[in-house]
Amino acid sequence: MKVRVDRDLCIGVGNCVAYAPTVFELDQESKAVVLDPSSVDDDILLEAAKSCPENAIIVEDDEGHQLYP
Ligand code: SF4
Repeated sequence: MKVRVDRDLCIGVGNCVAYAPTVFELDQESKAVVLDPSSVDDDILLEAAKSCPENAIIVEDDEGHQLYP
């Protein structure tokens, strides 16, 4: 799966980092950046995306079809 963060939506709450610290970290602007999506199972990636209160995490399958939100 592919994952990206909409920086305009991210408010830096950090839920995604708590769920998947090997995939997300907060940068100096307190916006989430993507590290290594392949480091966790797909279901954890989806749970991390669903934990975002702003729906700022976009998950796509390998063909580019949007899975969430
Ligand atoms: S959970 Fe959403 S709003 Fe919070 S840091 Fe992650 S992407 Fe940003």
